[in-house]
Amino acid sequence: MKIILMGGPGAGKGTQAGPLVEKFHFPHISTGDMFRAAIKDGTALGLKAKSYMDAGGLVPDEVTIGIVAERLAQPDCAEGFLLDGFPRTLAQGNALNEILDRLGMKLDGVINIEVAEDVLIPRLTGRRVCRKCGASYHMIFNPPQQEGVCGQCGGELYQRSDDTVETAKNRLNVYNDQTEPLINFYQQQGLLKRINGDQPIDKVFADILKALG
Ligand SMILES: [Zn+2]
Repeated sequence: MKIILMGGPGAGKGTQAGPLVEKFHFPHISTGDMFRAAIKDGTALGLKAKSYMDAGGLVPDEVTIGIVAERLAQPDCAEGFLLDGFPRTLAQGNALNEILDRLGMKLDGVINIEVAEDVLIPRLTGRRVCRKCGASYHMIFNPPQQEGVCGQCGGELYQRSDDTVETAKNRLNVYNDQTEPLINFYQQQGLLKRINGDQPIDKVFADILKALG
């Protein structure tokens, strides 16, 4: 099974990757994880990626595409893989098609986990952090027993400045602008599987399996 897993901030993409890997026993190819590992190991790729990240920019497409091409050529990808976090743009999608053509591979599907913005905003802004001990809570997923008070030390809980509604909306807009052309691209190829992400985790997973046939 060769699939791409897509989903914006807060859509629950990360939660579905684990069960998918368990089910299909394929390599989980996350470009974010690959860059973090390369940076930690101090490889040439890591140093290159780090230089861009330190300068406050994104890693350029040619670097990202290069590592994906190398990774997909490894023998363990021959039977299948889960691509996570790549492609992110139409340009990357076109590059991926070229890579797959060269390798004689075909995608089985592109899973897009979709959640409405009014559901995503509370998910993305729900984090609260203790001023005293740093413990982290979430108003939906892990609420404190007493509102505004840390259950571990009694400290005051606050919302980090990067967890505001404005920041969340901005992240969603950037993601949607980037991925909309890519989603149309896969729709036209008949590969797109739209999954309702506003459901319990196991129901989302069941829908993904059903969509993959
Ligand atoms: Zn605390």
